[in-house]
Amino acid sequence: MKEDIILNLKQVHERIENACKTAGRDSADVQLLLATKTVPAEKIRIAIEAGETLMGENKMQELRDKDSELRNLNIERHFIGHLQTNKIKDVLKYATCIQSLDRLSLAQELDKQLQKEGRKLDVFVQVNTSFEESKFGLAPDAVISFIREIKQYETLTIKGLMTIGLLDVEKEKMRPSLRLLREIRDEIYNAKIDGITDLKLSMGMSQDLELAIAEGSNMVRVGTSIFGNRFLGKEIWNENIAE
Ligand SMILES: *Cc1c(COP(=O)(O)O)cnc(C)c1O
Repeated sequence: MKEDIILNLKQVHERIENACKTAGRDSADVQLLLATKTVPAEKIRIAIEAGETLMGENKMQELRDKDSELRNLNIERHFIGHLQTNKIKDVLKYATCIQSLDRLSLAQELDKQLQKEGRKLDVFVQVNTSFEESKFGLAPDAVISFIREIKQYETLTIKGLMTIGLLDVEKEKMRPSLRLLREIRDEIYNAKIDGITDLKLSMGMSQDLELAIAEGSNMVRVGTSIFGNRFLGKEIWNENIAE
């Protein structure tokens, strides 16, 4: 098990390096986030001990269950799943960044809790760039006004934009939803919103990380290619099922 994970990690880093080379990009500009839903803490620990520093969970329950084993390791934990407002307080105990900010009511409630705790939080705005109804995230044309609105919350530091691209067996069908996130980022820059000058793009998973890097990703979130399939023979992930 340990050897597998270490080998897989090496391969994923090679994929990232190669994709950067092809795109003429510096691989220092692309972070790897371990997508660890359903992965037991002992496996995550192997990846951390191999040098990984960033992970993302989709469910509060899993953050909590794995906390005691991971808390003392050098790992930054992000929340990348759909977040219900009644879970905010718990998630804030474990995560330092929420990548799935997708509505004003969530921003409001986060701000309220963060004020109470006297702290700030990094956030990514999740955008639905694949136009699939099953996906969470803001509609692309709503992002600029959303950013203007949430900028008023001083507890929230807007780090970037996140999307789950359209997955398809055909490579070129996956590209538009990734490219769109970059275009939205550029539109936000063009809108010259005060204080918004550096937005990272969190996009790309096991299946589409090369394309995502070609389209400008700064953070790929990879699970299956590192830890193996979550369920054999079935559709392998469904982060859209709320807790
Ligand atoms: C599961 C998940 C990933 C990783 O997907 P893989 O195909 O296993 O690499 C990335 N982002 C989010 C939001 C996820 O839920």
